[in-house]
Amino acid sequence: MRILTKEIISKEGELVELSGWVSVRRDHGKIIFIDLRDRTGIVQVVFIAKDKELYSLANTLRPEWVVKIKGTVNKRPENMINPDIATGKFELLAESMEILNESITPPFPLETDGREIDEEVRLKYRYVDLRRERMQKIIRLRSQFVDRVRQFLFKNDFVEIETPMLTKSTPEGSRDFVVPSRLHPGKFFALPQSPQQYKQLLMVGGFERYFQIARCIRDEDLRADRGFEHTQIDMEVSFTTREEFMALDEAMITSVCESLGYKIKEKPFPIISYADAMKKHGADKFDLRDESDKENGVLAFAWVVDFPFFSSGEGFSSGGEKNEKGKSSRSEWTFTHNPFSMPIPEHIDWLVSGKNIGEILTSQYDLVCNGFEVGGGSVRAHRPEILKATFKVLGYSDKETNEQFGHMVDALSQGAPPHGGIAHGVERLLMTLTGEKYLREVQAFPQTSSGRTSVMDAPSDIYPEQLKELGIAIEKKKKNI
Ligand code: ASP
Repeated sequence: MRILTKEIISKEGELVELSGWVSVRRDHGKIIFIDLRDRTGIVQVVFIAKDKELYSLANTLRPEWVVKIKGTVNKRPENMINPDIATGKFELLAESMEILNESITPPFPLETDGREIDEEVRLKYRYVDLRRERMQKIIRLRSQFVDRVRQFLFKNDFVEIETPMLTKSTPEGSRDFVVPSRLHPGKFFALPQSPQQYKQLLMVGGFERYFQIARCIRDEDLRADRGFEHTQIDMEVSFTTREEFMALDEAMITSVCESLGYKIKEKPFPIISYADAMKKHGADKFDLRDESDKENGVLAFAWVVDFPFFSSGEGFSSGGEKNEKGKSSRSEWTFTHNPFSMPIPEHIDWLVSGKNIGEILTSQYDLVCNGFEVGGGSVRAHRPEILKATFKVLGYSDKETNEQFGHMVDALSQGAPPHGGIAHGVERLLMTLTGEKYLREVQAFPQTSSGRTSVMDAPSDIYPEQLKELGIAIEKKKKNI
């Protein structure tokens, strides 16, 4: 029966069986040492020349070969203890070995943190790259993090619901990835930029507390903290107010981060208005940590509220359907965050009557941590006339609103409860927890910075028959840039 390398510390003198990868082989004349690696760490295995057959088999071992070894757990001599590894006081004296698979020479070293290796090469062989300790730690932390989130949400009566991946283009502020339809040639689905509309429809559907670990797909210019795909902790709650929702969300973030051993700088999280943030920090994302917080991995969360609902161009990175200058192509106004939001209660009348547009504040709340925006949400317009008024400001005619968002107007007209929610970027949160600077370091299979998939060669050509079936003709093939 296989045991794990970490378990040998309680098996002194016992005959055990370990399986894993050969990390390094060191030859010392009559003795061969290997470091055997499994999911829990590494252990030193010793082969001695006395056992000729086994010794010569050990001589053939190369890095990343996969082996099963039976042997006795021994204490290492006092002067041979390796304090750097958890099993460093012990070693396995091999008695038999089976080679389960060989490996060609690895494309790059795995004992380093990998940052020195060319990104394209790392991602081409991502499945090997993932074996390095740093990547194992990050991807396992990500899994634990999501698990704690789920535990909190289930405990608080949330229902996990999946929403469609093949859906309709929506105005989240980025370009859509589109999918051609075979059954309806010439028509396209869009992959979801977020489940925004569906989660609101679930509130109309009576679930009251929804969440999803949602994949969001946006055709954005790639940056250090952005990829085509990211994952959100997507939540929505009925019969809530801005303050109640922020408190619930804060309880989740606090409990998850603290249960993973992180220290939070200030509780409750400070709340700052957009105007004050701009005055004080010159930006709506800021870092409240001092030097010692930075050294000690402290998390400095803060809420930013009272953003303008609309902007006439400059200053905001989000906002839908903008031309290159950042201006809306429909009207002088574009939304700053989310067109489905409710203004703050005092400004609802202004929106509905189309007054003081530039002064209307939205109920949007952004969560900032250590200089990143790690979440954003709002109380939503739950009455149809408010949503219609928003689209009017954005320059949609009644007919256009109806064509594109008629389903939302219809749904809000059928007893939609007041509701609000948030989405937290899982990668951004992981980046703040780990101090990693690139989104690709916290995703198992990220895109390259040139927008290609890791390991598999996509985007790629498809067969002429596939194009024909979809009713698509490629006009002219552009050379790859
Ligand atoms: N749908 C928003 C987003 O993806 C988040 C939210 O308001 O819940 O940014």
